[in-house]
Amino acid sequence: MRGFLFVVWYDERTFAFGVMNTHWLIIVFAFCVGLACGSFVNALEYRLQNALSVIWGKGRTPARSICPHCRTQLATRDLIPVVSYLWLGGRCRFCQTSIHWQYPVVELVCGILFGLVAWRFGATVDTLIVAFFCAALLFIFLYDLKYQLILDVVLLPLIPCVFVLSLVRGYAWHDLLIGALVGGGFFAAQYLLSRGRWIGGGDIRLGVLMGMMLGLTVTIAALFLAYIVGAAVALFAIARRRLALQSRIAFGTFLSFATVLCLLWGRELVEWYLHRVL
Ligand SMILES: [Zn+2]
Repeated sequence: MRGFLFVVWYDERTFAFGVMNTHWLIIVFAFCVGLACGSFVNALEYRLQNALSVIWGKGRTPARSICPHCRTQLATRDLIPVVSYLWLGGRCRFCQTSIHWQYPVVELVCGILFGLVAWRFGATVDTLIVAFFCAALLFIFLYDLKYQLILDVVLLPLIPCVFVLSLVRGYAWHDLLIGALVGGGFFAAQYLLSRGRWIGGGDIRLGVLMGMMLGLTVTIAALFLAYIVGAAVALFAIARRRLALQSRIAFGTFLSFATVLCLLWGRELVEWYLHRVL
């Protein structure tokens, strides 16, 4: 259900009550929170890849962001998502090395995702939970795209956490467990059939996570969607000779992408399929 918050005020000059729907305010606020979370997703990727602590910096002080090139600690004004990147012309303030475009793009994508979630679910607990799911999936997407790896250190703690949060969202526990069994089992079967050549073990655990986020019906829809998108991207890449037929595509990227879409519009997608296609 979409929730609405209204701001009501009394105007003393016109003797009238004013009412403003804050739905758009919530979307803008969610977008800004999303930008900051996107910045955290970038930091998490950098820190995990370089075996740095997420919380602690040197000498047990809280971790601060540094420029990966000159290692100068960044000031607060350099850490404003997207804005700092544009203000600095995409270069480090200290050593003038260009900052990778990944950083502002991930921040922007996370902001847009949070905005979409707020638009879809309004001022509800659903918005908080689904936004958290989207940030986690964005991290999985980014990491799998860059390193063809789904990190268990992130994925395994997420599974029980997502289970509890989906219960809070009103999903039935058996729907989640069967969804996880189907999502994980689908990839486990392929893993066994191909002896680990088609997909990695990380995809099995990601399948479990999808089931915990989406429940049985929408998980199946998300799997279909991931294959359709994956096949389309692969054909496009092969057609442009960017990819040899033998090369391996990190399937976790398509799975996490499809899961985000299905978190937002999964039920509508299933409805549409059942009524229009079948
Ligand atoms: Zn630098």
